[in-house]
Amino acid sequence: MKFRPANKIQDLQYFGEFGGVNPSISDSATYTFLSAKTMLDTFEGQAEGCYLYSRHTSPSNLYLGEALAAMEGTETANVAGSGMGAITATILQFCNAGDHVVSSRTIYGGTYAFLKNFTPKFNIQTSFVDITNLEKVEAAINENTKILYCEAVSNPLLEVADIKGLAEIAKRHGLQLLVDNTFSPMIISPIELGADVVLHSLTKFINGTNDTMGGVVCGSQELINSLRSVIDGAAMLLGPSMDSLRAASILKNMRTLHIRIKQHSKNAQYLAEQFENLGLKTVYPGLASHPSHELFKTMMNEEYGFGGLLTLDVGSLDKANALMEMMQGENLGYLAVSLGFYKTLFSAPGTSTSSEIPEDEQAEMGLTDGLIRFSIGLDNDIERTFRMMRRCMTKVGILETVSA
Ligand SMILES: *Cc1c(COP(=O)(O)O)cnc(C)c1O
Repeated sequence: MKFRPANKIQDLQYFGEFGGVNPSISDSATYTFLSAKTMLDTFEGQAEGCYLYSRHTSPSNLYLGEALAAMEGTETANVAGSGMGAITATILQFCNAGDHVVSSRTIYGGTYAFLKNFTPKFNIQTSFVDITNLEKVEAAINENTKILYCEAVSNPLLEVADIKGLAEIAKRHGLQLLVDNTFSPMIISPIELGADVVLHSLTKFINGTNDTMGGVVCGSQELINSLRSVIDGAAMLLGPSMDSLRAASILKNMRTLHIRIKQHSKNAQYLAEQFENLGLKTVYPGLASHPSHELFKTMMNEEYGFGGLLTLDVGSLDKANALMEMMQGENLGYLAVSLGFYKTLFSAPGTSTSSEIPEDEQAEMGLTDGLIRFSIGLDNDIERTFRMMRRCMTKVGILETVSA
């Protein structure tokens, strides 16, 4: 049976306090109790439906979490104030001092820096591997390994993780498979493919309006309870909580996520094909030339396409910068990090979002100087966008003068 993430979200029904079609926003940091005994029970996690304090959780945060859990097919979810807030708390919840992580080497720069530079303080060590090579992944596992970490589609190189293959390895070694699905919400459903936990930065496609940060961990009730525990829960004790007003606004934006993803993918597919036809070095999972194109097809929920991200290697950082400045000047998008916005966003990851990764390691993983990461927008007339982009490429000398 096909998994239908958009149906799962649509099938949720909410009523506001006065019969509103949107749930009421719980604009409170703390909550009253009619009896003192219930307060104690709530602290001990025994009073279903009672709220304590918004760092723990709030009705608005639970509504948003419910929609995200429905989308990913998990029992439940816990939202956080940023993607990193969700990712770091979850890793720390699973790992104790002396434990070991096997992670993809091509991951978001912040996650990479956390595993490389921060968790060693707690004697949690990480081996970074080429996630597309399952033999190397398995060989990196040792007796202390607790988690296997990857991104479904990696930032910024758009490598695709074989989630089924990784899940088999994880099962065999008793590990938890954590998948960051920020680049491919709706498109890939990691739980369906055997992952244990799904993470997202809501800041990107899921919210889609670049007005707030947010994050989520989707998983079992047991995991989420442990994250929220007042005794030893990383989400509760480190405090990366989301504000209720933001939870309410992200929930409303989520209702158009399926439509937006289709348009992002359609536009990105068109541009990737055109760029490749011009002879540019283009990486996009929807191109037959992508090394994991066939794998991606076996994993995807068909109707959503291959996602909104593509990369172009224009040869040098100077050319990349010149092109990005010109495209911004022509109002084709913004020279900005992040992704999932209605306008196209572009940046050179080597000097921005992945600058945490040392230069020699960047080179080893194929992250070149001239690489531009594009998050393709919702443009209604992508043919016009392409013509304008091609003109910019000609002007900055990336393309030979082509007949218009
Ligand atoms: C942006 C991003 C993050 C971090 O999320 P924030 O909301 O910025 O904290 C994590 N993973 C990926 C793949 C991202 O793109």
